[in-house]
Amino acid sequence: MALIVQKFGGTSVGTTERIQGVADKVKGFREQGHDVVVVVSAMSGETNRLVELARSMQSQPTPREMDVLLSTGEQVTIALLSMALNERGCPATSYTGGQVAIVTDSAHTKARIKRIDTERIVRDLALGRVVVVAGFQGRDEQDNITTLGRGGSDTTAVALAAALKADECQIYTDVDGVYTTDPRVVEGARRLDKITFEEMLEMASLGSRVLQIRAVEFAGKYNVNLRVLHTFQDGPGTLITLDEGIAMESPVVSGIAFNRDEAKLTIKGVPDIPGVASRILGPVSRANIEVDMIVQNTAADKTTDFTFTVHRNDYDRAKVVVEQIVAELEAREYHGDMKIAKVSIVGVGMRSHAGVATRMFEALAAEGINIQIISTSEIKVSVIIAEKYLELAVRALHSAFELDREPTEDNGV
Ligand code: ADP
Ligand code: ASP
Ligand code: MG
Repeated sequence: MALIVQKFGGTSVGTTERIQGVADKVKGFREQGHDVVVVVSAMSGETNRLVELARSMQSQPTPREMDVLLSTGEQVTIALLSMALNERGCPATSYTGGQVAIVTDSAHTKARIKRIDTERIVRDLALGRVVVVAGFQGRDEQDNITTLGRGGSDTTAVALAAALKADECQIYTDVDGVYTTDPRVVEGARRLDKITFEEMLEMASLGSRVLQIRAVEFAGKYNVNLRVLHTFQDGPGTLITLDEGIAMESPVVSGIAFNRDEAKLTIKGVPDIPGVASRILGPVSRANIEVDMIVQNTAADKTTDFTFTVHRNDYDRAKVVVEQIVAELEAREYHGDMKIAKVSIVGVGMRSHAGVATRMFEALAAEGINIQIISTSEIKVSVIIAEKYLELAVRALHSAFELDREPTEDNGV
C-alpha cells in the first residue's frame, strides 16, 4: 500500500465523460489499497477562456482579480470529480488550494509556494477518503487567492507529494510520457523511459510544456519520485530521476525543446563604451521585463549593435523602453522582430562530448536555416531562428542526433 499523488491535466478532465473516466481510474487505485490524493486542472480551454474574459474588461487585468477569476476553473473540476467518486461509492472530499492550506507569497499570477499545511489531507486519508485538491492555486498570508503561473497544477501535485512524503507523484496527461521532442511536431519522437531532473528542468525551461518548470525544481529539490503517464492508456510512462547512472549511458542529446514565446529587439549604432549594457538593460529590468538572450558585437566604427530577447507578452512594453534608450544613447535606430523561435538541444551527455554545437549548426545549415543568436550552457545549446523554420529545424535536429533510434553506444558525436 502506497501514498500516491495523481495529477490530471486539462484534457484529462476536459469533458464530464473524461472526469468519469478519471474517477474510475482513481477508484481502481483505491481498490488496490493505495491512499490517493488527486490534483486536477481546469477543464481544457477554460483557463484561456477566463483570461480572454478578463482582457475584455481591462487591458492589463489587476493581478489580484485575475487570480480570483482564474482559480474558478479548478474549483469546478474538484467538485465534479469528487461527485463522480462519491457516486461510485468511493468517498471523496474536494479542497481549494487555500483550504488545504497551500500558502504562497503574494506575487499574484506567479506566486511561489511557501508552505503547505497537510493536516486536513492526512485526516481525510486516515478516514479512507480520496482527497481532491484544486491545482494551480493557493492563498497568501493575508488570505488572498493566488495562482502559480500557467501549467501550475503540476507544481501543486509535486509540492503536495513532497509535503506528504508520498511514494510517487504521477502526472497524467494526453501523452504517454516525456518524448525526445514534442510528439505533436515530430512524428518520429520517441518516449524516454527515464530522464534526469537536470535535463527535464532544461527541457521545461526551454519550452517543453509537458511539465511546469517549478514542478521539476521542486521534485529535484525534495527528491520526489515523479512519473509522467497517459491518463487513458496503460504504460510505464517516463520516470524523472536523480539517477546519475543513466547520465553516464545517456546519448549526447536527450531531447529537443523549442518555444515561440520570445521576441527580439536590436539597438543599432550604440556607442561602444563602458556601461552601455547596463544603460540598456537597467531600464528594461526596472520595467520588470525579463531578458533571456543577449548579444553584442563591435563594428569597425566603434559602435555596436545590441540585441536581446524578451517574452512576447512583454514585447510592446519593451519597445517603449527601447525607444527611450535609443534617444538617450543617441543610437542610430532600433529594430524589433516577433517572428522568431528558440530551438534547443539538451543532454547531460554534452558534458563529456565535444563538437555537439558544431553538429547542430551543420544540421541547420544543411537546411538553409540562418542562426540569429546562440547561447550555450553545460548541458544545452539554444539558437534563435526565424519562426517559419521552427518545425523544419526541430525535425532536422531530431534526425541529426538520431533521436528516433533507441540509444546505443555510437549515438555520440
Ligand atoms: P496537461 O493539460 O495535461 O497539463 P499539457 O498540454 O500542459 O498537458 O502538456 C502535455 C503536452 O506537452 C503534450 O500534449 C505535448 O504536445 C506537449 N509536449 C511538449 N514537449 C513534449 C515532450 N518533450 N514530451 C511530451 N510532450 C511534450
Ligand atoms: N489551468 C491552469 C492552466 O491552464 C493550470 C494547469 O492546467 O496546470 O495553466
Ligand atoms: Mg500542463
